[in-house]
Amino acid sequence: MHKRKRTRKIDVGDVSLGGKSPIRVQSMTKTDTTDVKATVEQIRRLELAGCEMVRVAVPDEDAVSVLGEIKRSIHIPLIADVHFKHSLALNALDQGVDKIRINPGNIGSRDRIRLIVEKARDKNVPIRVGVNAGSLESGILAYYGGPTAEALAESALVHTTYLEDIGFNNIVVSIKSSDIGTAVRAYEIYANKFHYPLHVGITAAGTLLPGSIRSSVGIGIMLSEGLGDTIRVSLTSDPVDEVRVAYEILRSLGLRQRGPMILACPTCGRCEIDVIQLAENVQKRLESVETPLKIAVMGCVVNGPGEAREADVGVAGGKGEGVVFVSGKPVKKVPELSLLDALIEQVQKMGDRSI
Ligand code: SF4
Repeated sequence: MHKRKRTRKIDVGDVSLGGKSPIRVQSMTKTDTTDVKATVEQIRRLELAGCEMVRVAVPDEDAVSVLGEIKRSIHIPLIADVHFKHSLALNALDQGVDKIRINPGNIGSRDRIRLIVEKARDKNVPIRVGVNAGSLESGILAYYGGPTAEALAESALVHTTYLEDIGFNNIVVSIKSSDIGTAVRAYEIYANKFHYPLHVGITAAGTLLPGSIRSSVGIGIMLSEGLGDTIRVSLTSDPVDEVRVAYEILRSLGLRQRGPMILACPTCGRCEIDVIQLAENVQKRLESVETPLKIAVMGCVVNGPGEAREADVGVAGGKGEGVVFVSGKPVKKVPELSLLDALIEQVQKMGDRSI
């Protein structure tokens, strides 16, 4: 792991980003933004999962008009995602959003960008310059012959410089590509030149399993290089899955701890209890737990007791039964059907009553 690159600290509502702030987890709603009830419900589920800021699509004036109401109904900063029309960004700022994401490649003339920047500066709201391989400016595409890493970085560089030239540096930058190598290289090039906080992710990563793997590899490489102040895992799935995967990535690299890390053996011919079912049930029952805990669910006596002993709470299977370990010590032997409850009881005793 490289040391995390020091970036400028900015504030998104009451959540800090960059500098020494924790690497923030964010997501984006998948509802029709104008359906306020559904959108707020989804954001509340994201909040419970640990999402720290949320973005909503703002495709038209109808969507802009409900942003204030959504903001008043949630507890985390609200980000407006605007494409094509600068007037949507201006009106979103009037609705009180905490951050604006614009794609400079499709927002139009510099005069329009300037209007957004001036209003954002008046309201002390940061702007994310969100460069995307799918919507690079035609001039840059022609010059580089395609959406290469250099082309993506150039677009981010040009727009950052423009914002700086008009005296605005309340900036976050993302440079996304669905190609991992291109995205990594583009962020590296940009990060060598600027110190603005980076929003990192792999765009259009895909459905839950392949998308999680692609995101973990891409985001994992960048984080291990010290790049990234906030992450969004883009999945064709429930956005709560994006948040879960984001925390798993951060936890795997030792960058953030939230909730239980559930280690479970892959099972094999020696397995004497239904580890797959038990591990899934443990995962579900502990979903709302925020305390970082290491939980081990192991199938037999070969590696089970060893792993279970290393965990805060663990179970190691035997024939139709299992031993529950707490902080490395066996505390009781229970029948297989009672293992789930016995493990949850021990987690509750360790202090988390939210389950
Ligand atoms: Fe197999 Fe036991 Fe290892 Fe699980 S802990 S994979 S059951 S040997």
